[in-house]
Amino acid sequence: MSPVVTRFAPSPTGFMHVGGARTALFAWLYARQKGGRFILRIEDTDKEREVAGSIPHIIESLSWLGIEWDEGPDKGGPRAPYIQSERLTLYRSYAEKLAAAGHAYPDPYSEAELEALRTNAEAEKRPFLYRDHRPEGTEPWDGKKPLRFRAPRIARYEWDDVVRGRLSAGEEAIDDFILIKSDGYPTYNFAHIVDDIEMKVTHVIRGEEFISSTPKYLSVYEALGEAPPAFATMPPILGPTGTKKLSKRDGAKDILDYRSDGYLPVALMNFLALLGWNPGTDREFFSPKELTDEFSLERIQISGARFDETKLRSMNQHWMRLLSTDAFIRHLGVRPPSDGEKLSKAVPLLKERAQTFKEAQEMLSGELSCLFDKPILAKEQLLAKELPDRPGLALSGLRKLSEIVGSLPDDVTAQAVKDALMPAADNEESAGQAGKGGRGAILWPLRYALSGKERSPDPFTLISILGREESLVRIREAIGILER
Ligand code: GLU
Repeated sequence: MSPVVTRFAPSPTGFMHVGGARTALFAWLYARQKGGRFILRIEDTDKEREVAGSIPHIIESLSWLGIEWDEGPDKGGPRAPYIQSERLTLYRSYAEKLAAAGHAYPDPYSEAELEALRTNAEAEKRPFLYRDHRPEGTEPWDGKKPLRFRAPRIARYEWDDVVRGRLSAGEEAIDDFILIKSDGYPTYNFAHIVDDIEMKVTHVIRGEEFISSTPKYLSVYEALGEAPPAFATMPPILGPTGTKKLSKRDGAKDILDYRSDGYLPVALMNFLALLGWNPGTDREFFSPKELTDEFSLERIQISGARFDETKLRSMNQHWMRLLSTDAFIRHLGVRPPSDGEKLSKAVPLLKERAQTFKEAQEMLSGELSCLFDKPILAKEQLLAKELPDRPGLALSGLRKLSEIVGSLPDDVTAQAVKDALMPAADNEESAGQAGKGGRGAILWPLRYALSGKERSPDPFTLISILGREESLVRIREAIGILER
């Protein structure tokens, strides 16, 4: 058996999104698992649809995800070049071979003549087919006219799809189609076959939009005397309701947007792998290496796979939580070095709350900014939970708590801070005449004194991150305000 060769063959017609990335991933995983080769090939024969900047974008997206190719436009390889527009002479030589053998003919009709033939067919209420109007015999092809494939009249095509099983289509699926256009460029239909043959591709893994054209492709393989590769068709990716195809409005983004939104490539890879493939167990988390070990084309499903952003987010959080503190901070991006220690201590908090690095950054500049910036305190906020029947409790409470904080060791966990402070708070809870509210009446001003915010992490966590000295400065500042 020849070694497995798969390829990802995007057209540079825009940005790379989840569908393309998943196809690339499955093709890559399969090649890696089988110890084969994975090729990146750019299919740019439709110059009108080309979008500038797509090729570097595709390369950057795949690289970020962690998918590496063995042969490709930037890497070279035994079948270079890997950009179709640079391989025109090759397609031409295959086309000439087909023309010489009578499998293709120069299209004899002008646009106006074709239009007339179409109108005729319509008037007679029959489908217009090129093959009903093909010329007799073989005319030499000089490359100026489009070259059309002379489709064989085969009653039925049947083939095996690795994912979908036995598929078939009748003669109606094949008409004479263009191999080389008048501008000298091949059509996708032709170029990809030539390349898959030349590059010795063994498994063609792609979307279901190509199924209906497969009989056409099979007829070209036959005319060339080549065996077709195995076909594996991906399931469609559905939107969150699971009823229609995923669209931009459902959150389908450009792959690099996931990077700027703070997703980890391992998390996105893990998520994409389960979008239509299942491991046969309930297991959810797979590293790239584990995916490579477990992957199989046979367990790709036929039915559509639902794109669930909530699942992606929680998967991302799982992978974020597995990072070391240093790695987590590296992913977060820059903070002033003087804040390094506090930032390290805040990482568990971020791991607990944030599902993306973007969210973690927003927390650092939002509810957690008090860790780095000294708060500006308002007296009425310090007194917001003061009990009417126990005036002065905020001030006396802060004095008592600051004493306890002052006796804490330098480096202390949130739990140890809590264990030290809670007895005092509980005392106030039972001391009040109404019996309730004393705890909040002293913990609220403490938390506010430390954070300057109505919403923030609890005071014990704040003290453990700020450290004893900085906490004391902030609490004393609040005491000073209340004394004034
Ligand atoms: N160039 C085609 C596309 O981007 C690739 C299809 C294939 O994999 O054969 O849709």
